Parts: sequence; structure tokens; C-alpha cells
Amino acid sequence: MRCPECQSDQTKVIDSRQVEQGVAIRRRRICENCQHRYTTYERIETKALVVIKKDGRRENFEPSKIYNGIFQSAEKRPVTPEQIKELVKQVETTLRNTSSGEVTSDKVGDHVLEALSELDPIAYFRFASVYKRFNELSEVEELLRQFRKKGEDSEAE
Ligand SMILES: [Zn+2]
Repeated sequence: MRCPECQSDQTKVIDSRQVEQGVAIRRRRICENCQHRYTTYERIETKALVVIKKDGRRENFEPSKIYNGIFQSAEKRPVTPEQIKELVKQVETTLRNTSSGEVTSDKVGDHVLEALSELDPIAYFRFASVYKRFNELSEVEELLRQFRKKGEDSEAE
């Protein structure tokens, strides 16, 4: 890393430590030519996660939107803000690991529902009813049926 004072590339790292809860490394460097000291940071490059909406528009993944949606669904339920934050983080990690940087809004919703189903059944149904915009009662029944089946499967384990 070239010296900002004299442009020499003969520089040395004199101190290196983790900062920002370990997601970045701060390095103190000294220029061997002019003795100028300066600091550099190294951090992981985070790719943008893009959500493709139903109408084809693209927007950046915003954890706060999902958080708010779940928060409303979980009103008066025994779900803490920490649990919701954790859930959103979990969904974001899954999406980042399984996608090439673009996901459909349907996929985002499915992952949220998957995680919510394990957290709180009522919040799950409230979120599903907003997100899936049911048109028919049969769609609600279908969801309920799947949910019950899931419950039976996990009890059988
Ligand atoms: Zn220098």
C-alpha cells in the first residue's frame, strides 16, 4: 500500500488488530522512505443483495422492511425484538449463501415464513396472510393443512 506522503511502496505494517467486532482489520503502517505513519483498513467485500419484485422492479434487500413486517405480525405475541432481528439475519445469510446476488420477493417471503413457522404459529399466519394476499379461503386452508402436517412431522422426529 503506497505511502500517501511520498508515494513510496516501501512500507511496513507495525501494528494490526481486529476492529468492528472482528469484521475489519486495522493496520498501522510506516513508510520506510519518509517515516510517515498511516492507517489502513481491510474488510470483507459485501455483495449487494437485490430483490426482484413481482412487477419486475429491482431493489436492494432491506432487512428493516422484513423486520417491520414480522414485528407487526408478532404484535402481542411472545416474540422479542431480538428474536425477530435474529430471524432476519438468518434469512439474509441464507439468501446470500444460496443466491447469486439476486432473489425474487417470493423467495424472500418463503424463507421468512419457514423461519417464522418455528418461532410463532400466529405470527406466521398473520405474516402469510399479508404476504400471500389470499384470494380464496381454500388457500388459507391449504396453508393450515401444510402447517399442521409440518407440526406432525417434527413431532414424529
Ligand atoms: Zn513515505
